[in-house]
Amino acid sequence: MYLKSLTLKGFKSFADRAHMVFEPGLAVIVGPNGSGKSNISDAILWVLGEQSARQLRGQAMEDVIFSGSSARQQVGVAEVTLVLDNADHVLPVEFEEVAITRRMYRSGESEYLINSSPCRLMDIQDVLHDSGLGKDTHSIISQGKLDAILQSRPEERRALIEEAAGIAKHKRRRERSQRKIASMDEHLKRAHDIRREIA
Ligand code: ATP
Repeated sequence: MYLKSLTLKGFKSFADRAHMVFEPGLAVIVGPNGSGKSNISDAILWVLGEQSARQLRGQAMEDVIFSGSSARQQVGVAEVTLVLDNADHVLPVEFEEVAITRRMYRSGESEYLINSSPCRLMDIQDVLHDSGLGKDTHSIISQGKLDAILQSRPEERRALIEEAAGIAKHKRRRERSQRKIASMDEHLKRAHDIRREIA
């Protein structure tokens, strides 16, 4: 599996459609200060489901939408598509290529798509589960993050190691199941109450 391409439109400084094609192996993005290099890694984080504006170096999530410049008006929607080559089927889907898209409107409405079909963020997380990719998997180390890791508390460092060892995903699944069980318990209690009221 490798990152095959990235397409941005209306995302941060990329008002027009920008399409980047990557080959297997190392890719380096170079450019002057402020030209948008970090915006590209922000786009990767965002399309993988990042929910924190701060992690994307903004105040509010809306900050990812191109906000205009001296030459251009702002746009109403940001869209990023990341295409992964899946010829080796590392991702547990039958497709040879997996295109993940996230779209966000100024109204705050968000959409996710896998190979152009609308889906939930959870579906994307499920597809990426065992691949080592994902917003919480430390596959993206941003500026300053290395220092933060070195200065982190032991329990934070443990979480990092658990993620790398593949344990964290099972913990997430367990938490998700526990939330479902708690919600079912609530439903059951409610059903018992109603039955008692009727009887
Ligand atoms: P450096 O080398 O200094 O780290 P960089 O190449 O990584 O810079 P970025 O931080 O990716 O640059 O890009 C910063 C630019 O993106 C700034 O000019 C900023 O105004 C612009 N920018 C960020 N968000 C938006 C937005 N929503 N709309 C328009 N422009 C934006």
